Amino acid sequence: MKVEFLGGVRTVTGSATLLEKDSIKWLVDCGMFQGGKEIEKKNDDTGSYRPRELSFILLTHAHIDHSGLIPKLVREGFRGKVVCTKATLDLCEVMLRDSGHIQEMEAEWQNRKNRRAGGKRAGPLYTVKDAEKSLKCFLTVNYNEIVSLADGLKVRFQDAGHILGSAIIELWVEEGGEGKKLVFSGDLGNSGQPIVRDPSWIREADLLWLESTYGNRLHKSREETTQELLKIVQGAIGHQAKVIIPAFAVERTQDIIYTLGQLMREGLIPSIPVYIDSPLAISATEIFKKNSDYFDRETKEILSRGGSPLDLPEMIYTRTTEESKAINEDEGPGIIISASGMCDSGRIKHHLKHHLWQEKSHIVFIGYQGEGTIGRRIVDGAESVRLFGEVVAIKAHIHTLGGFSAHADQTGLLEWLSHFENPQLEVFVNHGEEKVSMELSRLILERFHLKVSIPQWREKRILFAPEERPISEEAGEEAVAPEETFHLLLRHLDRNYKRLRKKLKRWRGMGEETQDPHRLRQLEEVNRRIEELESEL
Ligand SMILES: [Zn+2]
Ligand SMILES: [Zn+2]
Repeated sequence: MKVEFLGGVRTVTGSATLLEKDSIKWLVDCGMFQGGKEIEKKNDDTGSYRPRELSFILLTHAHIDHSGLIPKLVREGFRGKVVCTKATLDLCEVMLRDSGHIQEMEAEWQNRKNRRAGGKRAGPLYTVKDAEKSLKCFLTVNYNEIVSLADGLKVRFQDAGHILGSAIIELWVEEGGEGKKLVFSGDLGNSGQPIVRDPSWIREADLLWLESTYGNRLHKSREETTQELLKIVQGAIGHQAKVIIPAFAVERTQDIIYTLGQLMREGLIPSIPVYIDSPLAISATEIFKKNSDYFDRETKEILSRGGSPLDLPEMIYTRTTEESKAINEDEGPGIIISASGMCDSGRIKHHLKHHLWQEKSHIVFIGYQGEGTIGRRIVDGAESVRLFGEVVAIKAHIHTLGGFSAHADQTGLLEWLSHFENPQLEVFVNHGEEKVSMELSRLILERFHLKVSIPQWREKRILFAPEERPISEEAGEEAVAPEETFHLLLRHLDRNYKRLRKKLKRWRGMGEETQDPHRLRQLEEVNRRIEELESEL
């Protein structure tokens, strides 16, 4: 059983792990690298496998840093299944299309630049069409259901409480008579987060992949954070000002809508216009409403009382660019929720240009700000930032509200880890900036005395191997009884035959049997030898 760490190691984006047992190869997550040219080069280099060799991709959740390269793999020949929950598929439908659109736009922009410089044409990583085609490969499973993927390979998805449909993946793998249980935490949610349930506890595992996004930080409590937001909104209303909230379209936006709704239901703030200024966030909110069976108990209770936890009295969806621009002509207080969450792209940049220099405006950060992003610079206290080629001074009130995070903090991660019962558990810390993963690893070692490491990008390891038997030495020959040798050979033959059948079936499924006379000849040869042996016996 082998592993190759392909992404989301010593960084937060590009989550992907390649696993291999017998002749089966598969991925857990297939994320896109984001955060600048250097790291994004890795999107062109998917590692030491060919997409068509993969039997399936197990997908923890819909965020692009976990799902974003699926259309690229399908474009390059992947014909297996993408296994995930139904809510993840629904969200991927809008997110992968949107990502395809962004790829097309970026390629067009790059080409215009290249043409001016006399350079070559570059194609997009993938297109909207590729994204649509990839959606046909999806296969949905329910939480808590054990599904057999292949001989000696079973999977179960458990609620990770991070975004709607997000999962912790448990894998039972058998190879050569050895069996191990692998667990992938995916992104772990923040306990007490609205709408989604709290992360499920897992007790058993031999090998664990543990995320570490906030492995070095403690979030403020939910109540404290809600109070902070309340004060900011009250202050803005008092000054007839706007509150700008850069938010990821999925989960953060719905979380804020829910919380504002709660404050309004309790009469703590009056109804004011709340603009949802991101087509993706609008679609995602609609998907949330359709998947209420994934909600936590509190949110279901609001529904059962006839309430609508994802609606506000003056919620304004702005789908078109014109509608978006018109927001800033509206006088008076209001809240603008827009994407992207890290301010690197999208409509939020226009709102920042309009509001950052105004002393009365409030900018409220509620999500993770990656290294090198505009959001990170603002949060870190820059005096100005460049937006659309223009220097914009930062005079507005800047707030960071950690309690709205969709990720467990250091305490949350360690608490979740404490439920594992195996003292031999081996932990791979991933999905975190290097120094953060290191800090969490140190704590895991100190507190739980577990074997822990932080893999390198493209590092390969053997996770476990069937026990080796001596074969060529004399002593070895003596040790293995003849009947056992025969028995072993028969077992090998059975296994090889099954694997070959499976590969051939897959190969035929691709409609390639007529295109490759070489393969057909090889097959004839195998048949001939079997017949020869049979007649000899
Ligand atoms: Zn995520
Ligand atoms: Zn992630």
